Amino acid sequence: MSRISPLNWPVIRQLRDGDPFGRDRNAQSRKSAELQPRVAEADRVVKSVCPYCAVGCGQLVYVKDEKVIQIEGDPDSPISRGRLCPKGSASEQLVNSSTRVTEVLYRAPKAKEWQKLDPEQAMDMIADRFLEARRNGWQDTDAQGRPVNRTMGIAGLGGATLDNEENYLIKKLFTAAGAIQLENQARI
Ligand code: SF4
Repeated sequence: MSRISPLNWPVIRQLRDGDPFGRDRNAQSRKSAELQPRVAEADRVVKSVCPYCAVGCGQLVYVKDEKVIQIEGDPDSPISRGRLCPKGSASEQLVNSSTRVTEVLYRAPKAKEWQKLDPEQAMDMIADRFLEARRNGWQDTDAQGRPVNRTMGIAGLGGATLDNEENYLIKKLFTAAGAIQLENQARI
């Protein structure tokens, strides 16, 4: 049908489309009608959990060409039912930010500059320090001579971004190592 046909006059279209007040489809421009959400281009959707706080809102991560293009709330999540707070809604920027640090950086004591470290080397350095502090703070007995077999040289303070599984493993590791000072920000 020609666009200049009387059948395409606005009032005719409104009546024909069941939109007598022109507030529905007839108020929509052609450009708006052709718009597609950016998630429509995604190759796949992966379910995830927001990493920012202990609420643990469910997320849908949209991936295109193996790159995250958008993160939105997951309606199936019993915790958040599709909602994300402004911080969680912006977590795509956490993934794709051009300022995101993706290498291990180390600043030696008294040094002014950071240096890049191989992740394996960094893990070895952390493990060496952990073991040394554990050894140096080890106590077989307390002041009254009672056996305690603990270390006061290491402690754990978790943040709210840690999830249940991470907290479980941290608790296991530190308790097995003899640490008794374990706390989490979520309890403060
Ligand atoms: S979306 Fe907001 S409230 Fe939900 S887990 Fe992320 S930071 Fe916390």
